[in-house]
Amino acid sequence: MNLCYDLHTHSTASDGTLSPGALVTRAAAAGVDVLALTDHDTTEGLAEAAVTAAGAGLHLVAGVEISVTWGGQVVHIVGLGFEPEDANLQRGLAGLRRFRAWRAEEIGRRLEKHGISGAYEGARGYSNGHLISRTHFARFLVERGYSPDMRKVFKQYLTRGQPGHVAGEWADLGQAVAWIRDAGGEAVIAHPARYGMTRTRLRRLIGEFREAGGKALEVVSGSHSKDEAFTMAKHTRDFSLRASLGSDYHGPETPWAELGRLSPLPANTVPIWHAWPAFAAAASA
Ligand code: AMP
Ligand code: MN
Ligand code: MN
Ligand code: MN
Repeated sequence: MNLCYDLHTHSTASDGTLSPGALVTRAAAAGVDVLALTDHDTTEGLAEAAVTAAGAGLHLVAGVEISVTWGGQVVHIVGLGFEPEDANLQRGLAGLRRFRAWRAEEIGRRLEKHGISGAYEGARGYSNGHLISRTHFARFLVERGYSPDMRKVFKQYLTRGQPGHVAGEWADLGQAVAWIRDAGGEAVIAHPARYGMTRTRLRRLIGEFREAGGKALEVVSGSHSKDEAFTMAKHTRDFSLRASLGSDYHGPETPWAELGRLSPLPANTVPIWHAWPAFAAAASA
């Protein structure tokens, strides 16, 4: 029996639009057997997701997507299978959320200067009491007609050189990997083809990540093309890393990245779940 895995998804605990429970229900209906909820810089949604998963007969893997600054650039490190209560990990994530809270106010101030008022309050409204992400600003700006869609709004307002962009220091790469590992989990470079890095620079990142104890690359991602998946598969072989797979689902508004609809991992990769005892027997049976 082949299990269906999705090891990268978001809920309303960060910038997704489905509650953790609704996400799990939708994943189960889509045929996902093993799901990781990987919200940005928080594990807040895991408890609710676990309750729904138990009822739906779906295996939930504890997850998180940690914001990292590496070489002046933001890189995302997914953590899987850790102990969610780990104090050191939670301290680290809390620090990132404090930076997020300040950054959100700063984005609001900058947009205000640019003639857009109420953006902070608007974004906070979309975040519904949870952490504030640029996605929440994007929704506000699109809703108010400042931009036609979610892709353009990042380009016009929220990326480097634009009025609502705030540079910042997220976690250090080694630190993020250590938080995950020390909590008993495995670290994965999220969507490695999305960083716009040259091959040389990406391989430097992968080398440092492996040196720090990182375990896998996200080879199949909702944001990777087939060619990108094959390139990343080759990198896993070159660096003796495992391969992960995740949709990066943020909600039903982006139907091109649906749950449980990813291509399988390319041959000649070792799946990250290869040695996961709970599912290994079923997966190889
Ligand atoms: P933040 O972590 O608050 O800086 O927000 C990053 C999030 O914004 C990512 O996880 C994506 O969900 C979203 N995002 C970033 N760039 C884009 C883009 N060009 N189009 C749509 N969403 C984006
Ligand atoms: Mn996101
Ligand atoms: Mn990401
Ligand atoms: Mn993500």
